[in-house]
Amino acid sequence: MDKGILVVVSGFSGAGKGTIMKRITEKYDNYALSISATTRAPRKGEEEGKSYFFVSKPRFEEMIDSDELVEYAKYVDNYYGTPRKFVEDCLNQGKDVILEIEIQGALKIKKKFPNSLLIFMTPPSAEELRNRLIGRNTEDEETVNKRLGRAIVESEGVEAYDYILVNADIDTCTEKLHNLIRASHDRVEAHLDLIEKIRKDLRRIEDAASNIQ
Ligand code: 5GP
Repeated sequence: MDKGILVVVSGFSGAGKGTIMKRITEKYDNYALSISATTRAPRKGEEEGKSYFFVSKPRFEEMIDSDELVEYAKYVDNYYGTPRKFVEDCLNQGKDVILEIEIQGALKIKKKFPNSLLIFMTPPSAEELRNRLIGRNTEDEETVNKRLGRAIVESEGVEAYDYILVNADIDTCTEKLHNLIRASHDRVEAHLDLIEKIRKDLRRIEDAASNIQ
């Protein structure tokens, strides 16, 4: 069985990543969504172990020290990190694991897992981004402004990603993401073993033919 691939989805806060993640995991069963650990306080409606594992700062630091995280980063005053065990178990079971993480973490993943797929999601315009963040009603104005500021910084690292996904429509965006992940399974690196085997077999056939002549 082929190993799964690691898919990183980043993007502006308010790009609609959460909605797309929900949709793609509901529609297709080969995706596993990694649940991060964070020191941020839960927002209204967020559930422990579903949205995040909400942990204290000392516990997070313990996770860093004991290498329990594949990557971690600090984002707007809080720590966020990807628990290692779930990711490795799912990849070994052949599942594609989606990490919804910010750019510092994304770059660490690309370094550790060169075959990972990095996707940056954006709404069609800055205006739309602001409206979505305000409309979400989960943050106060100061936090919304901090997040918009951070969005500017994040967009500067975008060249490191493999694809940009414009989220103007949920269904279209979900399908596009699914297709990009499917296609990624057929990258050259994923099939080098097969090509090597075909080369060996071709040489054998060539040798056998030259022995006959
Ligand atoms: P939020 O507080 O809105 O849930 O998340 C803030 C940012 O942290 C988002 O950009 C989200 O993608 C990112 N994030 C969530 N989990 C992780 C993680 O495990 N690692 C990293 N590096 N970023 C994360």
